[in-house]
Amino acid sequence: MSGHVPPGFGVRDGALVIAGRTAEQWVAEAGDTPLFVYDRVRVAAKVSAFRAAFPGVRLHYAMKANPFAPLLAWMAGLVDGVDVASGGELAAAVAAGAREISFAGPAKRDAELAAAIEAGATINLESVGEMRRAAALAAGKGLRARVAVRVNPPFELKGSGMRMGGGAKPFGVDADAVPDMLRAMAGLPLDFRGFHIFAGSQNLDAGAIIAAQRETVALAAALAAQAPCPPALVNLGGGFGVPYFPGDVALDVGLVGAALAEALSARPAVLAETEFALELGRWLVADAGVYLTRVVDRKMSGGQLFLACDGGLHHQLAASGNFGTVIRRNYPLANATRFAAEPEEVANVVGCLCTPLDRLGDRVMLPRTEEGDLIALFMAGAYGRTASPGAFLGHPPPGEIFA
Ligand SMILES: *Cc1c(COP(=O)(O)O)cnc(C)c1O
Repeated sequence: MSGHVPPGFGVRDGALVIAGRTAEQWVAEAGDTPLFVYDRVRVAAKVSAFRAAFPGVRLHYAMKANPFAPLLAWMAGLVDGVDVASGGELAAAVAAGAREISFAGPAKRDAELAAAIEAGATINLESVGEMRRAAALAAGKGLRARVAVRVNPPFELKGSGMRMGGGAKPFGVDADAVPDMLRAMAGLPLDFRGFHIFAGSQNLDAGAIIAAQRETVALAAALAAQAPCPPALVNLGGGFGVPYFPGDVALDVGLVGAALAEALSARPAVLAETEFALELGRWLVADAGVYLTRVVDRKMSGGQLFLACDGGLHHQLAASGNFGTVIRRNYPLANATRFAAEPEEVANVVGCLCTPLDRLGDRVMLPRTEEGDLIALFMAGAYGRTASPGAFLGHPPPGEIFA
């Protein structure tokens, strides 16, 4: 076992157990490797943890983290809304039966805006130009469009893996330009719903998230004073990180929830009737996913052991260290076939792609590993298949099971 295998996985006959079955049983069910298994019980536990920590705050699922249809359909029934970032995701969210849909993302095309208007989704406007196009499309249909203003805040979420706010950004409307935009909105066939303020992603620092949420509530209040009507909803973004690497400590959501409750109880009167939402992707689904790949070849090179597997970065780009990371570190991985065995050798676990980028684990400690063994990569539930270059090199897609 290497790194930071998330707690809660079992062992039977020495093998890794995921959602009640051994890794090999899941492969038999899917028919082949490589394979993603997503455990719904682990996702449900995250949703429950959120509800306990954030009573009264709406939970939205940012589906780009994992759009697998069975997972999405099930999730749509548990959360209060689904956040989409393309016309394709919008169609998937509608098909999944999502109650509330909000649509953020730069360069929404007219057809995407039109589909959002027809679906009654809230369009998180990224610019004044987008507002004018949405209004024209709504007018053309004799409809009103539900819109929120996505604000590029003048602050950032410190310590985020990916920064989405602060300074010059493709996302949202600079906070100081929002009042003029709100004035221009009056008279257009648009129903103003509120603000969407998203400052970062993959953050494990409760203090930084608390500070950003406080600033976000204050900014929403200042902007609300200039709005055509009080905002029905302020989407505070997300940014909750998960522990991938040794030394990472899971985010204390109890702490964040208590601080947010305090900030909201002291909110200005202009936000008295406003509901608040957090939109989370990674935090909800990352630890529910395991990527299973079989060792095809065991060989030595330059005095080092290489285990070449049938999976790789075409399915699990993030684990290879090529998705938004500066320094490559190993995602937690284990020999699933010999999960209970003592580590005794150092191995380089690589994928099947003909590129030196396809590394799944550098110099990891594993039990003696044979060809045919299954390797499990943990923390594979978010930004796995969906964020990987599946067409690269022409290998087949992975299996996916929502267990
Ligand atoms: C990607 C994204 C999210 C989800 O981010 P996570 O880090 O997966 O929680 C939320 N909101 C918006 C607007 C996004 O683009």
